[in-house]
Amino acid sequence: MPVNRRSFIKSLGIGAAGLSLNNFLLTAQQSNKFKDDVNRNYLPDLQVDVIVIGAGPSGIPAAMAAAREGAKVILLEEDTTPGGAPVNMYVTFMCGAPRTGIYLETVRQLNKNHSLGIEPSKTFGDYAWDNKNHWWLPSSYSRVWNAMLSAQKNITLMCGCRVIDAIVSTKGNRNTVTGVVMMRNELYQRVLAPVTIDATGTGLVSAKAGCNFFYGSDAKSDFNESIGLEKSDGKVQPCTQMFISQRTKSNTEFPRSAFNTGVLLYDDPKWEVHQTPEEAVRKDAGIYLHWGSTVHVEDTTDIVQVAAAQMEALNRLKPRLEALQKAGYATHMAPKIGVRECRRIQGEYVVTVDDVINGVFQDDHVADAWYALDPWGMKIEEKVKLDVKPYGIPYRSLIPLNTEGLLTAGRIISGTRLAMSSYRVQPICGTIGEAAGTAAAMAANKKTGVRNIDIRQLQRKLEAAGLFDWYGHVNLNVNNKPWRK
Ligand SMILES: Cc1cc2nc3c(=O)[nH]c(=O)nc-3n(C[C@H](O)[C@H](O)[C@H](O)COP(=O)(O)OP(=O)(O)OC[C@H]3O[C@@H](n4cnc5c(N)ncnc54)[C@H](O)[C@@H]3O)c2cc1C
Repeated sequence: MPVNRRSFIKSLGIGAAGLSLNNFLLTAQQSNKFKDDVNRNYLPDLQVDVIVIGAGPSGIPAAMAAAREGAKVILLEEDTTPGGAPVNMYVTFMCGAPRTGIYLETVRQLNKNHSLGIEPSKTFGDYAWDNKNHWWLPSSYSRVWNAMLSAQKNITLMCGCRVIDAIVSTKGNRNTVTGVVMMRNELYQRVLAPVTIDATGTGLVSAKAGCNFFYGSDAKSDFNESIGLEKSDGKVQPCTQMFISQRTKSNTEFPRSAFNTGVLLYDDPKWEVHQTPEEAVRKDAGIYLHWGSTVHVEDTTDIVQVAAAQMEALNRLKPRLEALQKAGYATHMAPKIGVRECRRIQGEYVVTVDDVINGVFQDDHVADAWYALDPWGMKIEEKVKLDVKPYGIPYRSLIPLNTEGLLTAGRIISGTRLAMSSYRVQPICGTIGEAAGTAAAMAANKKTGVRNIDIRQLQRKLEAAGLFDWYGHVNLNVNNKPWRK
């Protein structure tokens, strides 16, 4: 059910201690923010056509697409480098399809110049699809995206800038977002634009703008879904500490008995646990991607809880890290624990699990999607989980309810928790981002607002950018018919 911040805290049952901590922080920030000495605390305003918040797999294509449409774009990122989950959480592996548009440009660059096998994969193909497990170093993603972003003169990328608030004007029951407030060098700065895209992965900016959001599992009956929980347990998917291990001594063997799952060699169709020792040695590039310890976090909007979960995950990992060390493998830990799920912003359309299972394309679809249902921590029959068809992401699921001047992109768009478990993967987040960026530029250029753009023109632009050109080029391994006539 939709929630606002107040009911969300209540539904989580956060006690007096939690609330008083939050209240203390809010009070301190607000009292600073509204100090009389505005000039001392605020840098001069910036004005652009499109603001994108979050330089991750959805925000980067969003910014690039808007810039290619001629919009002046500012891309704000709280980290010191662009990349999002592949860079700061070491989620360096792509799942699902399609791999098209700006996301495809990214992975082609990764394969060409950053292959862990030294030579680019020969089977990677034009559509980055060969049923093998490709992954790259986190720093390779940031190098590729830095190069792509800096080649685009319409984009100003500002890293180290955390957006802390949305600027909103209210008329009747509709809010219009006219910009955001960010922290830059311990000072506040307002950035103003007719369209803002929330690509934060957390939905913070939309929540600050007063949008309703969903959090945690839904009951089947909430959205009339054919599968799911009878009663919501309020949980989000667990967090996982990712890491990379790398052989540093010759004549040493990977300590596979210490791992029963979640280890990936480079450029291979099999997970490490499914390799015979002979196969693994033959193919071993000496570097492995690990899905490490997994920890449940009650409230992933709370950075203190997330940080505590990382400590717990690192402690739990100790025996496995020691086994690696002993066997002559160095380990590189992701700086942040991987958070799979946070807010889902309620939009004009809510994508449901039945849209995913039945391969539904609404008339206003702007991104294709295909990936299994993958809700960590929730059991679903294997056949149901895998038997999904390509489906469409409707433009309405990017438009927050009762709000103008704002679009969402990536994993926070409007969908049920089960639907999101499918479209949350990076290639799909990338195509959603590209659609959001193109739409935002159209709305900003023509001053129409995000609801009144010409949807057919948007679809034609996305088609011309190659976003729908994948079906038939890849082997989906599912028994379904092409959706396009
Ligand atoms: C452990 C784990 C394993 C996964 N495994 C896979 C996998 O194998 N394959 C796959 O394809 N996908 C996988 N995923 C899913 C995928 O990585 C994410 O869903 C995807 O990265 C979401 O992209 P996004 O752009 O929406 O958000 P993110 O990648 O989270 O990017 C959001 C960006 O916004 C920035 N930001 C946030 N708040 C602010 C703010 N207030 N101000 C400024 N900047 C801000 C963040 O720093 C970040 O750079 C996994 C995710 C996790 C956590």
